[in-house]
Amino acid sequence: MLIDLFVFLLGTVVAAALVHMIEKRHPRALFRAQCRNCTLPIKGHHAIPVISWVWLRGRCRNCRRLIPSIYPVLEMVGGLLFLLVWWKHGEVLLSSWSELIPLARTLVFTAILFAILLFTLFHRAVPKSLTVTTIGVALMLNAVILQGIFDPLTSVVGLVLGMVVLGVFFLLQFLLSKGRWMGRDDIWFGILVGAMFSFTGGVFVLVLAYILAFFVAAVLLASGIAERRIAPTFGTFLAIAGLAVLLTNTQMLSSLL
Ligand SMILES: [Zn+2]
Repeated sequence: MLIDLFVFLLGTVVAAALVHMIEKRHPRALFRAQCRNCTLPIKGHHAIPVISWVWLRGRCRNCRRLIPSIYPVLEMVGGLLFLLVWWKHGEVLLSSWSELIPLARTLVFTAILFAILLFTLFHRAVPKSLTVTTIGVALMLNAVILQGIFDPLTSVVGLVLGMVVLGVFFLLQFLLSKGRWMGRDDIWFGILVGAMFSFTGGVFVLVLAYILAFFVAAVLLASGIAERRIAPTFGTFLAIAGLAVLLTNTQMLSSLL
């Protein structure tokens, strides 16, 4: 229980740093928390994720400007993601070191998908440099994991098929919508999902993302706030679906579909 709390808090700290870095698009921003309005540095006990926001009633202690609730929400999402990774691998890891590589895979994939989620929220697009680099990382980690578990040929075919099918599917949407609904760089995100989840998993993530997007669009339309400015992009849903498939019991999820 105490260790769960520690893992959750660690996740909120990592998420707070990542949010700040990706929003500013600068690696150095990682260690320099500051108010988004008056740019005063946030230090010490005012920089504790979630807790400080609640303590200061969601306002900057200097300029008193409201801090949008998306920040503590994203910090809590980070905590929850860490907790899910821990629940998936933690106890097995304590008894066997063989769990180390699966844990590394889950942790790296979680970090990548969370970073992509932040990019889609703050900048509406994922940089190609991030997706292309991580396609290589994903293939490498999957190659190590799949070795000896499945027939290598089937695994390789699954990964290649996943990348090609998802890549082509995204390319078609980009061409059909003339880039309005799917950006050129999103095609790389499609290929990345194939490299991470292989063919079957990739298609599953895609279907889940469409269902999520459909429900959110329906809610936004019904509530009359379907402004393009606040509507998340498809990449947001794809990242959320990827995290859900990665970190939860997929059998439970598939029974819902
Ligand atoms: Zn301020």
